[in-house]
Amino acid sequence: IEAKYTYSTVHVCKENGVTKVGRGSGGLGGLHSSLLSPAVPSLCPQVRPCSTRFTFRTGRQVPRLGVMLVGWGGNNGTTVTAAVLANRLGLSWMTKTGRKTANYYGSLLQASTVCLGTGPSGDVYVPFRDLLPMVHPNDIVFDGWDISSLNLAEAMRRAEVLEWPLQEQLWPHMEKMKPRPSIYIPEFIAANQEERADNVLRGPMAQQVEQIRRDIRDFKESSGVDKVIVLWTANTERFCDIVPGLNDTADNLLRAIERGLEVSPSTLFAVASILEGCAYINGSPQNTFVPGAVELAAQRRVFIGGDDFKSGQTKLKSVLVDFLVGAGLKTKSIVSYNHLGNNDGKNLSAPQQFRSKEISKSNVVDDTVQANPVLYGPQDKPDHCVVIKYVPYVGDSKRALDEYTSEIMMGGTNTIVIHNTCEDSLLASPIILDLAILTELCQRISFCTEADPEFQGFHSVLSILAFLCKAPLVPEGSPVVNALFRQRSCIENILRYPGAPSAASPVPAGAPTG
Ligand code: NAD
Repeated sequence: IEAKYTYSTVHVCKENGVTKVGRGSGGLGGLHSSLLSPAVPSLCPQVRPCSTRFTFRTGRQVPRLGVMLVGWGGNNGTTVTAAVLANRLGLSWMTKTGRKTANYYGSLLQASTVCLGTGPSGDVYVPFRDLLPMVHPNDIVFDGWDISSLNLAEAMRRAEVLEWPLQEQLWPHMEKMKPRPSIYIPEFIAANQEERADNVLRGPMAQQVEQIRRDIRDFKESSGVDKVIVLWTANTERFCDIVPGLNDTADNLLRAIERGLEVSPSTLFAVASILEGCAYINGSPQNTFVPGAVELAAQRRVFIGGDDFKSGQTKLKSVLVDFLVGAGLKTKSIVSYNHLGNNDGKNLSAPQQFRSKEISKSNVVDDTVQANPVLYGPQDKPDHCVVIKYVPYVGDSKRALDEYTSEIMMGGTNTIVIHNTCEDSLLASPIILDLAILTELCQRISFCTEADPEFQGFHSVLSILAFLCKAPLVPEGSPVVNALFRQRSCIENILRYPGAPSAASPVPAGAPTG
């Protein structure tokens, strides 16, 4: 599908001579539009509209997609696998409130819509999934690794997420699935995880990475999938120090692996995937993508994305603070408290792993605050406190309590308190599917401009995934956008414009495009 699109932006030139690219006119939008400088508002900027003509090409051939999950036997890993099977098999099951049927609620691509334009009877909405040809989740083939040897049926029971009548129907299918042995370096996750680590690779670090590469090739061959995407949904690790000579460049990182120096399992998986040409997504908060891993991905032109699924509390925060500050209220304090009782909560009860989560949760309002110099000075930002407690009894049903306090007119205050309860893994599972499907789609999109007529793919750091991630990974020097609806319009527009066929390449009737 070939489409031409003119992206309109505004160049802003400050009096001090600094030129910045400003807000697009709803074009590629979201991610590019946050550069309006929050500097001194009294300067009178010169603005100049400008536009870039893009040509997008999208391959129509939807591949058979394989997704390999690191942490396959965990709550997210078993729940997403079970959900896809249940949808594929069209399962339904009884609960005390009636019969439930498998669905993909919570998936941006499968369960939300985009306004395509206006027809004779008003606005026309289509599901995201119909904008461009893309993989259907029912067709994804799963495989993966876990340090725990339980088969997926037993692991699903351990997770205590799905209703028992559904588990019973899924049991014969899930029982056959067994996680591959994984790389386990105890010091990276909480000590309380050791008791489940009975399925681990041994031997030198470099050999373990080789084994992961063999696993990817083996899965591809034995399942017949055309493409593999690898996604980390294993335990949150502690942060890694960025050390010159160790992990600061691709070469140093590869050498560190050869010598068995300090490299986290999640980074080892990233390296193995990149070397196999497979996109790698990090669903946890740790800094898997050390500079060496980012450089390796760029060298090999492989997509990487992350970090940390944006599922519940943070998603709401990135909407609510955008609303408050966007409405001209000065949010001064955000206090977020959680308790949960699943294995993720158990792992996060250790200080170093909690710290990774705390960092990932803490920066989500920065761009919104910086965008409003009327309310916030350069060093001014809201107090922001995050607490997580492990309470086994509540299992996967996570509780999140948030208090937002804002200054309003003439010295008044406005306090909003929110209480959220839901199964964590049922929020994360559709996000895992969206991450994989969107990444695969991006692998089929290329573009060129009049100034640079050679077709190229997106940057290897796939920032379009930001909507789905708590701490979005972006190319170096690019602004991070956390505000949810700006992130959504980025996906919407990137899917909308390549999907709009140009006159030169009409789309056959019935073809699934915009
Ligand atoms: P979980 O503890 O149930 O599952 C993690 C799995 O990873 C476990 O089965 C564990 O045995 C396995 N594991 C640990 N180290 C491993 C390794 N080196 N190799 C292979 N497997 C390994 O946790 P979960 O609830 O499924 O969450 C998974 C991750 O997703 C966590 O890091 C969590 O913080 C992150 N996350 C979850 C949500 C959510 O809403 N559920 C949101 C954001 C982020």
